[in-house]
Amino acid sequence: MRRVRRIAVIFLVAVFLPSLVLGFLALRTAGEQRVILERQAAELYQKDAGQLASRLADAVLGRQREFADRVRVLLSTMKPLRLAGDFGAALGPHEPGTAFVVASNGALVATQVRTREDSRFLRENEAFLSNRTSAELFPTPQNPANYRSLPKPLADARISRVGPQTSHFQTATSGASDGVLARFSQNELLLILWTRPPEADGYVFGLALPAKTVRAFVRKAFNALAPRSRNACIAILDENENPVTISELGFTADWKRPFVASEIGETLPHWRVALYLLHPDQLVRSARLVTLTLVLLIALALAAILAGGCFVALDARRQLALAQKKTDFVSNVSHELKTPLTSIRMFAELLEQDRVADPEKRTRYLRIIALESERLTRLINNVLDFARTDKKHKLYRKAAIDLHPVLERVWEAHSIHLREAGFTCEWIADDTPYPAMADADAIGQVLVNLLSNAEKYAGERCEISLRARREGGSIHVEVLDRGIGVPEGDERRIFEAFHRSNDSLASNVQGSGLGLTLAQRIARDHGGSLEYRKRDGGGSIFTLRLPLAGTEDNI
Ligand code: ADP
Repeated sequence: MRRVRRIAVIFLVAVFLPSLVLGFLALRTAGEQRVILERQAAELYQKDAGQLASRLADAVLGRQREFADRVRVLLSTMKPLRLAGDFGAALGPHEPGTAFVVASNGALVATQVRTREDSRFLRENEAFLSNRTSAELFPTPQNPANYRSLPKPLADARISRVGPQTSHFQTATSGASDGVLARFSQNELLLILWTRPPEADGYVFGLALPAKTVRAFVRKAFNALAPRSRNACIAILDENENPVTISELGFTADWKRPFVASEIGETLPHWRVALYLLHPDQLVRSARLVTLTLVLLIALALAAILAGGCFVALDARRQLALAQKKTDFVSNVSHELKTPLTSIRMFAELLEQDRVADPEKRTRYLRIIALESERLTRLINNVLDFARTDKKHKLYRKAAIDLHPVLERVWEAHSIHLREAGFTCEWIADDTPYPAMADADAIGQVLVNLLSNAEKYAGERCEISLRARREGGSIHVEVLDRGIGVPEGDERRIFEAFHRSNDSLASNVQGSGLGLTLAQRIARDHGGSLEYRKRDGGGSIFTLRLPLAGTEDNI
């Protein structure tokens, strides 16, 4: 038992406790599933938002290139001075925005004034374009020979990383031949596309796009570029965090709190691509499902480990108990062999030396020798038969026989000895044949085992009965005694090999623990059964049930 306890402790310390700790850690991770899933989704969507922001920035630069190409085409047919003088008309009425030209000395030489917007632009920007004042600008210079897109827009930024610089127009346009200047004029975004081709004699040709035009342009570009997402609404937010355009019509949200966002950059300063989850609770639900699955799996794993451990411990316990029983068996059998041999030898020697004159005594000694030999034979038969039936090697010589005379013969032989030993014996049987397909010797052996047990465990009240009757399609043979009975809880175990009740060990009754095992096996091999029940008023009843021939299939 100490070994079983040690195995249990090792299992607890080496397997179950670490599993419990792992399970606990896994459960904690499961609790963070929502955060993990949100982070994963945010990473995914952040990439989408970043890509779209980058494409929108490229679209603005593309628009600038378009404008620069237009100017070049015009310059191929007109002298720079002439083009500068009539730039607005040369661009044509369909070009949205206000056209202007700044000479190499920094003077604003021509502006187009067709609409109210043109005059407003001129009013607000004349001083700046003429280089008389500086302004807060977001410049994106570029070289037509080496057009490059902007660096990837910065990741989510509630605080803008796009900062303005204060400079004059001339300074802002020096150092490159083309570019985009963004500025906020009267809190509205203004995009100035400019180009200074080498053949333009230093003239800077520009086109100022007012906020309305920029918004229309962004909307168009967005429709062409924005990826469709089943789970998110994409919006372009302006500098006041109001949507310029959105991918899902009718969708509303707290625009200031997107799931992820990405700045577009200097071309559209403080504008952002923002992404909103269409079904935010879906994430919570998925997280809950993952958590539940994890909890279930962990619980299952722990239960399996615990069950496995219990199984191993139980098995170890069973094996140890069996080993103990086998050890008891060896000592019991050697004792059982020694005791009859000692008396046989002693009485045989006495008789051999002719030291017993009394003929009655001689007969009694001879009778003892015969009885002890019988006991030896019974024990040896039981051990050998047990080994055979255990390996399924026992061969039965079954034949259609009447069990009535078989029972009677065994009873007669045994009851003589029982009466001599002071037992009250009783034989009650139907006066009918008990036809059965059986091995007479094997059934006899069952009965001998039951009767000798009744004798061994008789205790104070020496009464033994054998009752046989037909019942249904079976024959019932009962061996009854008024002995010590089987201790409670041992009723089934007495049929296990090598098992001996503590009472029988304590009361010093010798035995191998195989008699009942063998008897039950024989009964089962004949299609019957052997059962124990407590007898009212004390003692035991062992019932052997065998099928009657012709009423049941016999083996
Ligand atoms: P054993 O050689 O120990 O008698 P058995 O297999 O015949 O082996 O019996 C197993 C155990 O069942 C015995 O050790 C005894 O405790 C119990 N037993 C068997 N028959 C009786 C009985 N008639 N009365 C009380 N206990 C019995």
